[in-house]
Amino acid sequence: MIVVLKPGLSEQEIQSVTERIQSLGLRAHLSVGKERTIIGAIGDERQLSDQTLESYPGVEKVLPILKPYKLVSREFQKENSIIEVGGQRIGGKKVHVMAGPCSVESAEQVLAAARPVKAAGATFLRGGAFKPRTSPYSFQGLGEEGLGYLASARESTGLPIITEVLDPRDLDLVARHADILQIGARNMQNFKLLTEVGKLNKPVLLKRGMSATVEEFLLSAEYIAVEGNRKIILCERGIRTFETGTRNTLDLSAVPLLKQLCHLPVFVDPSHGTGRWDLVAPMALAGIAAGADGLLIEVHPHPEVALSDGPQSLRPEKFRRLMEDLGKLAKALGREL
Ligand code: PEP
Ligand code: MN
Repeated sequence: MIVVLKPGLSEQEIQSVTERIQSLGLRAHLSVGKERTIIGAIGDERQLSDQTLESYPGVEKVLPILKPYKLVSREFQKENSIIEVGGQRIGGKKVHVMAGPCSVESAEQVLAAARPVKAAGATFLRGGAFKPRTSPYSFQGLGEEGLGYLASARESTGLPIITEVLDPRDLDLVARHADILQIGARNMQNFKLLTEVGKLNKPVLLKRGMSATVEEFLLSAEYIAVEGNRKIILCERGIRTFETGTRNTLDLSAVPLLKQLCHLPVFVDPSHGTGRWDLVAPMALAGIAAGADGLLIEVHPHPEVALSDGPQSLRPEKFRRLMEDLGKLAKALGREL
């Protein structure tokens, strides 16, 4: 980091800052200018909070050089991470589509979504058994029973499954059923959950918090990576803005930005990103055009009676048509679906 000193410090005061920097395990490189003096503090600064030096007498400001995250950064690993799961490779040329209902409602409902999404070319089945609902009076999900229905749908269709884990106490149970664990937007900064998921050897799709910056998003991924689990997929799912025409504002610029800053696969969720089924297809196509590795899309056999997120769920027929368009787009981009 660069430590900018206040003007007019005595040699003794400068010496004191230098010694402080050295006491933190960093080397100090003094550079005396006509107007200002700066000290280059060389070493891994990540373990220091910005305040450590900023509040020291004589210091005006501290400019970090290193990104606060490390393992997930492009600097740490130049090549894209490829995640192998359920016979699929995520993060390569192939565009992956994870599709299915918001919530698992019954064995029949999951199958009635799984069959057509598989036929249309989806590579994973999504469905929530543990649901993070804004209201405690809303449907909370079928829990373990729902996980069983997902497992049966995997059995009949061959589609690997992705499902959300809300609570570290459910982790063993959910991990036994899921091929990919989903950590939802509301839990992006549930550091206990991130740490526990980090200890497993199981792919995880981490969704961006609804008010999280890209840097905070990457720091949450770092929490998982630092525990040893490097099988992380990031998912942009829209952020809160002043706009009320859509449920969230799908931040598609985060896709190329994330791809620049880190080596992890990046997905887009146009369902939660817009909250409107009629905007899902265009934003799904836009997500892939922006460089996403895949999509997470809600599909329900009867959205009008869905127990959650009906208004943003595609009917199987609409999903099939979207997959056709995605196939054409993937081809034009030199990718495959
Ligand atoms: C979901 O995928 O159904 C979900 C709850 O998403 P998010 O965490 O992005 O709101
Ligand atoms: Mn949903």
